[in-house]
Amino acid sequence: MAVKDIVQVWDGKEIIRDNVEFLMEPTKKVKFPLSTNTKEIISDLIDTYQATPCAGVAANQIGYNKNIFIGKKNDLDHDKDFIIHINPKIDKTSDESMQSGPEGCLSIPEKTFIMSRFDKITIRRYDENGRKKIDKLNGFISRLFQHEMEHLQGRLMIGGKIHDEMPVDKAVEKIYDELSNYYSQHNNDLNI
Ligand SMILES: [Zn+2]
Repeated sequence: MAVKDIVQVWDGKEIIRDNVEFLMEPTKKVKFPLSTNTKEIISDLIDTYQATPCAGVAANQIGYNKNIFIGKKNDLDHDKDFIIHINPKIDKTSDESMQSGPEGCLSIPEKTFIMSRFDKITIRRYDENGRKKIDKLNGFISRLFQHEMEHLQGRLMIGGKIHDEMPVDKAVEKIYDELSNYYSQHNNDLNI
């Protein structure tokens, strides 16, 4: 049980390459019944989520290569009620149901992107007892799900689907450009 540090792509001055590579690794599926180790990861996710101003955290963002994320249950500002998503998957999307809006990422501090995403989606996830749950999501919670899913697949909010970027200071811009170049060299199939 611990509040963990967030794995970040830069420290404000330089890119942390080991962290970028770790965040680009697809996470491993969780087996049921949950092992003691996986239960500890979930407990760290809960502690970190509750101590951090955020809408969600993926397991690899706190250093664990596991297919789990924690996310807000409802789209309400001060409500930190959460859901643990294990082995989550998007089953249904439609190009006719799209949305776009600003997104930040705990792993990419100080940057905000206008991201284009699906709106209405059908998802599945497993709870801590291994029970499959099917849900229909839209709006903010749908966007959150897609953002966290990308983390678990080893993708970051770099490349694809970005409509626009909010202005940031020059130093951040510079390391972001460097990161984008590095990322495209290591991720050729990022045509999403
Ligand atoms: Zn993120």
